[in-house]
Amino acid sequence: MRRLPVVDTPRRWPVNPSRWDYVMTVRQSAVAMSITALIAVDVQADFLPGGSLAAPSGDLVVAPLQALAQRFPLVVATRDFHPAHHASFEAQGGPWPPHCVIGTPGARLHPAVDALAWLVISKGTDPAVDAYSGFDGTRLAEMLRAVGVHRLVIGGLATDYCVRATALAAQKEGFETASLTRSTRSTSAPVTASRRWRRCALRGSACRLLLRRQRRTPDD
Ligand SMILES: [Zn+2]
Repeated sequence: MRRLPVVDTPRRWPVNPSRWDYVMTVRQSAVAMSITALIAVDVQADFLPGGSLAAPSGDLVVAPLQALAQRFPLVVATRDFHPAHHASFEAQGGPWPPHCVIGTPGARLHPAVDALAWLVISKGTDPAVDAYSGFDGTRLAEMLRAVGVHRLVIGGLATDYCVRATALAAQKEGFETASLTRSTRSTSAPVTASRRWRRCALRGSACRLLLRRQRRTPDD
């Protein structure tokens, strides 16, 4: 299937008739093959080992995401995509060091994930507003519905922030949502990460669903 051009400004979607043709092609494929899409959240250089806001062992999500991508007709990658003086950065009073600044190497998707993605959703592009969820300030939900997707599998970085936020938002948007432990890594060490994941499970129904699904399909 032809790869969809990177969508830097989802608000302009769909402006191009040929792109709409592509949407309809994906819709037919989605109906024929499955109605599940894979979302790879923020697998970017700054969130990978060596990056400015790295998730330990974050690179280990790539191979599982590649394996999952073979099973679904649509793969979406989200990316944190911040202007240089974004409100979430410490210099502006935010909680984070500078990361994923537009035009810098740190903002680049992992090449393997970039190769998988048919659609790239940029978030956090407003200098004054942060966005953990791939649905926040984007038209991702609308795009997914337009191609007939009802179910989402979500992986990427990091479990305790943007993956969690994206999963919760996905369920709020009405998508059946699942994730798989090995396709995501937390910002903290593995033991703490699993505790955090359990805490998250107690707080959010989407995360409960994630855990249930993980138990059902342990080999994914
Ligand atoms: Zn960010």
